[in-house]
Amino acid sequence: MNSEETAPDRRQLPLVFDAPKRGKPPKHWADLSVDDRVQAVQTMGMPKFRAQQLSRHYFEHLNNDPQEWTDLPGALRDELAEQLFPRLLDPVRRLSTDKGMTQKTLWRLHDGALVESVLMRYPKRTTMCVSSQAGCGMACPFCATGKGGLQRNMSAAEIVEQVVDGARALRAGEIPGGAGRVNNIVFMGMGEPLANYKAVVDAVRTIVTPEPNGLGISARGVTVSTVGLVPAIRKLTEEGLPVTLALSLHAPDDELRDTLVPVNNRWNVAEAVDAAYEYSQVTKRRVSIEYALMRDINDQAHRADLLADVLRRKGSGARGYGWVHVNLIPLNEVPGSEFTRSRTEDMAEFVRRLESRGLAATMRDTRGDEIDAACGQLAATES
Ligand code: SF4
Repeated sequence: MNSEETAPDRRQLPLVFDAPKRGKPPKHWADLSVDDRVQAVQTMGMPKFRAQQLSRHYFEHLNNDPQEWTDLPGALRDELAEQLFPRLLDPVRRLSTDKGMTQKTLWRLHDGALVESVLMRYPKRTTMCVSSQAGCGMACPFCATGKGGLQRNMSAAEIVEQVVDGARALRAGEIPGGAGRVNNIVFMGMGEPLANYKAVVDAVRTIVTPEPNGLGISARGVTVSTVGLVPAIRKLTEEGLPVTLALSLHAPDDELRDTLVPVNNRWNVAEAVDAAYEYSQVTKRRVSIEYALMRDINDQAHRADLLADVLRRKGSGARGYGWVHVNLIPLNEVPGSEFTRSRTEDMAEFVRRLESRGLAATMRDTRGDEIDAACGQLAATES
């Protein structure tokens, strides 16, 4: 960084990889494998076939309230609600914008922790952005969630429930534009998904498993983001789940990234990009590079050029960029933060430079700005 650039805040919270063991959520149907579900119904004295029946209610009809499952005896419904379908998320606030096409929900978990999900309807697809942790331990200084630290990991079922809620609202025609389906899931809400690896992978498996045992959403419509936990990226590479990997890079050089994304001190730019490249080679899925443009911090023309340099991989096609796509995000500003959104002309120049090198780059829209849609802002306001 040259001396004319604004120095980012170097006062950083410690990184937290292991979530505190508090407030473990109750076990839920969506936490269980198909075999475990059969075993669970048998343990409760029910015949095997009930497992499919319950899955149909939950995953196919998107109904998470056993009291409404009138094809089951009343006493059994009470028992199921208590033992296998406890209420995991309670809506605290729902805010909508873009004529109702963007809906953000602030949820309270059973132990009082707050998380957020956002549903965004576009002409050709509907995206659910889900949280995977209550808070986050990665301490990125420009992020509202990072400021609060990590409270705990979410369970697989708590993650799946966010999708079920959005899918149900959409199917019921509660979102303008008529009844529809969720076809895109992005793990870009609160938390670092790969720091809660098992629950996230379990949730993804449930999301992509065909109905009635899962939500039947194509793995190609699922994106898991990470700030670059290299061992976890490698593990995900071996899972055989063709989801899209999104690497939140935000800076192409270690000096700046060490301050913007503190985990870079553990795994640097080259290591994170190498792991992402490997992921693309094994899964045959193009990797997304997420880059939030911050005024006078990471949006200089020379950093666009450097970003193109670090992403280039000989032999990957398209002038070395066939494996990757850059998503530029105008920063969602956190009130009171020194990190602000780049000037329009600087963003345009950044894109131009990437494209002139042959790199595919898209400027992401800023849906939901006026409802505190940047991850963690609503929860921070509430608490
Ligand atoms: S930007 Fe993502 S990884 Fe960084 S603190 Fe915020 S939620 Fe965590």
